Amino acid sequence: MRTQASVMHLDLDAFFAAVEQRDKPSLRGKPVVVGGVGGRGVVATASYEARVHGVRSAMSTREARSRCPHAAFLSGRFHAYREASHAVMSLLRSVSPLVEPLSLDEAFVDLQRAGLPDLEVATVTAFAEELRGRVTEVTRGLTASVGLGTSKFIAKVASDLDKPDGLVVVAPGTEQALLRPMSVTVIPGVGPATTERLRRAGIHTVAELEAVSLDELVRLVGRAHGTGLWSLARAQDDRPVVAEREAKSVSVEGTYDTDLTDRRLMEGLLTRQAGEVAARLRKHGMSGRTITIKVRLHDFTTLSRSSTLVSPTDSAATVARTARALLADLDTSGGVRLLGVGVSGLADWVQEDLFGETEEDEEELPAVEVPHHSRRTWSPGMDVVHAEMGRGWVWGSGRGVVTVRFETAETPAGPVRSYAEDDPALTAWVPPPLPDEQD
Ligand SMILES: [Mg+2]
Repeated sequence: MRTQASVMHLDLDAFFAAVEQRDKPSLRGKPVVVGGVGGRGVVATASYEARVHGVRSAMSTREARSRCPHAAFLSGRFHAYREASHAVMSLLRSVSPLVEPLSLDEAFVDLQRAGLPDLEVATVTAFAEELRGRVTEVTRGLTASVGLGTSKFIAKVASDLDKPDGLVVVAPGTEQALLRPMSVTVIPGVGPATTERLRRAGIHTVAELEAVSLDELVRLVGRAHGTGLWSLARAQDDRPVVAEREAKSVSVEGTYDTDLTDRRLMEGLLTRQAGEVAARLRKHGMSGRTITIKVRLHDFTTLSRSSTLVSPTDSAATVARTARALLADLDTSGGVRLLGVGVSGLADWVQEDLFGETEEDEEELPAVEVPHHSRRTWSPGMDVVHAEMGRGWVWGSGRGVVTVRFETAETPAGPVRSYAEDDPALTAWVPPPLPDEQD
């Protein structure tokens, strides 16, 4: 346990929905639901205006529609989310070298390495408040909730206490008083099964958990879990903030605004990504043994599958072959929105060289084009551009007609027009690449 509140947890508020409201002025202050819009879709994020009606993350979209039929249901624009995430993570890395991202919109930051004059509560509070303002600047209007505490556990609990747009600093020494009245579900790792087991033993709050002996806890939930629970119930958490080490893995991924369904196209994209990954490995004189693919389905479920080779490789063909085999085991018939390939378990030599194996294999990289433009799929919320009207977003489509609202983050709420779905004047708008995707 640290003696000062030097661990920060920052969490952007209703992230996907907030980005949509930023970029779609007509949706500001209105209920917005981002997620899978199809029959089996689930909610990824709901705006606070939709949460009032009981819409929650991970709820089926069908349920969300019945609770809040007047919400805007959007299928998500990962390029915009990644751009905002990139801006925030870059800002955080500029204040401390120890930034541990948990997802696109959440990270721990170690303030012991932020070069502050001291780590007193007043100092870290002022620093965090200023940083929250800078997050809003670099994201052009998003808000973040921040928690500060003596550990990751406490910082994360704190960031949730005054959402949205809040800042909570848990003063050193007050952690247990804060936790005691809370439900045991506040403790990381306490999921539905553990909660149920504890409930049957009459344990609902952290205070009740704290009263249980270590032996009894181990008997209830097992040795590994029990020891951790016992410590966390006492706010004892020494987990360090671990910066993502650049060289731990090399990966390339692409997100697509329309669902990919063609297997051969997906294989082609994976093969091209494998080529890029292999080129980066060779550039740094590295190789790796574990090959992973990442696939996000149309309903936002994200799957990853990996395979470990007997020896490290930096060969494009080997990575591509493995990636395609991993894809073959997944059901992607509902459509895919993100594909990625990564290599981890890195070593700084190529084992294959020891056996004098030649590059059998610089496989021809296929020329793959993602059919952003050619495919006339207009998903709700996607960015489009019209030859005369300029930029806008798809409000809805069906029966051969697509309806577009012409507005962007920089304009007032704009007009709505309808077109034939195959109107050549209307095309998908393709964002510029992020700075680190250009090489
Ligand atoms: Mg968030």
